[in-house]
Amino acid sequence: MDPTTTRVKWQHFYTTAFWLRRRKLQLRHHPLCKFCLERGVVTRATVADHVEPHRGDWNKFCLGELQSLCADCHNSEKKFIEARGYGGAVDDDGWPTDPRHPANRRR
Ligand SMILES: [Zn+2]
Repeated sequence: MDPTTTRVKWQHFYTTAFWLRRRKLQLRHHPLCKFCLERGVVTRATVADHVEPHRGDWNKFCLGELQSLCADCHNSEKKFIEARGYGGAVDDDGWPTDPRHPANRRR
């Protein structure tokens, strides 16, 4: 399956009035990049990102939880997470900060 063609299938979601409004509200309420904040960096967010990829599901697209990200984090960190299921950021001790990281999932 070619990822570029599947992306195009739901590209029009992002031009709906519903989305433009939802995106604006998300960035107004959460103006800073979440991933940068987790690293102690303050960066203005420009992307309203779905925490769980909607993969073209209109309901998930409309109702799924959003997070504010800067373009850099959205392009790099997010791809890493979608590929592995957790983020690669670590704290000052070198411990993974993402609760989904295998090291943090032991119960
Ligand atoms: Zn960022």
